[in-house]
Amino acid sequence: MVCIIYIPTSVSKLTAVAWHGGPGAPCDPDGNNLPFGAPPPPRHDDEHNVWAPFTGQSQFLLADFLFRKVEMSAPNIDYLMELWAFETARYDGTSPFCSHKEAYEAIDSIRAGDVPWECLSVEPPDDLPAGAPTWKQNQYQVWYRNPDTVIKNMLDNPDFNGQFDYVPYVYTDGNGQRRWSNVMSGNYAWRQCDTIFEDDPTTEGATYVGVILGSDKTTVSVATGHVEYHPLYLSIGNPHNAVRRAHWNAVTPIGFLAIPKSDRKYDDDQEFRTFKRKLFHSSISAILQPLKSGMTTPVVRRCPDGHYRWVIYDLCAFIADYPEQVMLAGIVQNWCARCTALPEDLDGEGGRRTRELTDLVTRTLPSDVLWDQYGIDDDIVPFTNDFPRADIHAILTPDLLHQVIKGTFKDHLVQWTGEYLQAIHGAAHADEIMDDIDRRIAATPSFPGLRQFPHGRRFKQWTGDDSKALMKVYLPAVAEYVPEQLVRCLRSFLDFCYLVRRSELGEDTLHQAENALRSFHEEREIFKTSGIRPTGFSLPRQHSLVHYLRLIQEYGAPNGLCSSITESRHITAVKRPWRRSNRFEALGQMLLVKTH
Ligand SMILES: [Zn+2]
Repeated sequence: MVCIIYIPTSVSKLTAVAWHGGPGAPCDPDGNNLPFGAPPPPRHDDEHNVWAPFTGQSQFLLADFLFRKVEMSAPNIDYLMELWAFETARYDGTSPFCSHKEAYEAIDSIRAGDVPWECLSVEPPDDLPAGAPTWKQNQYQVWYRNPDTVIKNMLDNPDFNGQFDYVPYVYTDGNGQRRWSNVMSGNYAWRQCDTIFEDDPTTEGATYVGVILGSDKTTVSVATGHVEYHPLYLSIGNPHNAVRRAHWNAVTPIGFLAIPKSDRKYDDDQEFRTFKRKLFHSSISAILQPLKSGMTTPVVRRCPDGHYRWVIYDLCAFIADYPEQVMLAGIVQNWCARCTALPEDLDGEGGRRTRELTDLVTRTLPSDVLWDQYGIDDDIVPFTNDFPRADIHAILTPDLLHQVIKGTFKDHLVQWTGEYLQAIHGAAHADEIMDDIDRRIAATPSFPGLRQFPHGRRFKQWTGDDSKALMKVYLPAVAEYVPEQLVRCLRSFLDFCYLVRRSELGEDTLHQAENALRSFHEEREIFKTSGIRPTGFSLPRQHSLVHYLRLIQEYGAPNGLCSSITESRHITAVKRPWRRSNRFEALGQMLLVKTH
């Protein structure tokens, strides 16, 4: 069912929103329909006590003082409470807590919304021959928490009320132009709803909850070296993009995947690589199992507005940088996870990869042909194949941070421009020019939105924010030293970049971005003709830009799904707990940070 609602925004212009059905009808916790207009049930048993589970503000403040501010020991809390009870007994009163246990119980019940961490371990096979490499002998631990409970908590978050879409929609502006912003404004959610409701008409009217996953290895540096973690994050497509970017409860770690290590001699070992990929897929599949039944049979969940509704889960998007995409899509290195363009000419002809195509060719062609002609590693079965409707090739989303900002801009264009100056002017003169470019970048005037770089481009470690800030001042700093074609190349790329980074994009924006990309492809030839990139531009991250325009129509603005969101969660999910732990125990302790 589609209903069109016209919302007048001015006298002469109308914007239109077409909703994919109405918002799922509210029901009671058992799934029975509520009478029209019935208010949502209260969220807490004691709706009037905002300090629940504490009896009031003073009891809460006392618990906070004892536990967090002075970190008082349990015997001292007991002693203080006894003194307190002794004193207040004269007025028939009692102490705020009977003992430290009661205080801890009250504190723990605030945390009832947290989903506990669990561990699954992958054991080595029993029949392992003697002398097998250590990576085969090891036991691997995967820490995870129930994604269904995590989503239940996310849906039940009143903070998202008013910034949460219950149904996919098509938004058209006053000029009749389609516009894309939040995930539910994209075609993907709409199409999936069509499929779900067609496959099983009894699901019609359920609220679509698109599951967004993201994974990205991260390193925590400590005095004794580096420790790597591989967190898996979960979000859902209903909260608006701005909420997902800003609200830490909208993106939650649900797993820490195992990182098999081995001796250096196994670095290029095919069997070891396949083992790592299989472990990766089987771990994600195992973690997501609790969601599976809710992907075909709707479940009742409380929503941000306080109403219960039937909801249906669906795998919607996966945010990952290129090495992770290779692993996820089961493709050969240097191929594209979304299309079948040949790795030596990625921006050339290529059909769209789909689960059906992969299944078909995998059934009919031998492994070596799949590897050479389709870039498919048939040892890998993507985890998505374990779930209804999910296609890993379709759900890999754009990633502004790795593909545009760090990839094409910093790793390619800034690097190549430096190499170009060296090739044209020789090393010594190029160094002088680079110093002057650095001086110009350092001379950036103080202005809102512009960052100053006291040392030019010379950061110890480039972050995504460094690259974004440098983008704003780079072109004027180099323009004088490079030919016009190179200036046009940088300008076209920057145009593309700023257009696709918008929070809302219309059809006109997509046309402009398409033109900017075409121009960038023409003008970047200067790096080929000048010998900097004699082999051309068949680079997976740069190639991914050609898929942006379609993916924006699928998922809305790329900045709502960028890996910078999961990267910023590394700080709260991994790095801070790491500092709080004693740094000797591994993951287990980090996740099970005890309250007492
Ligand atoms: Zn492609």
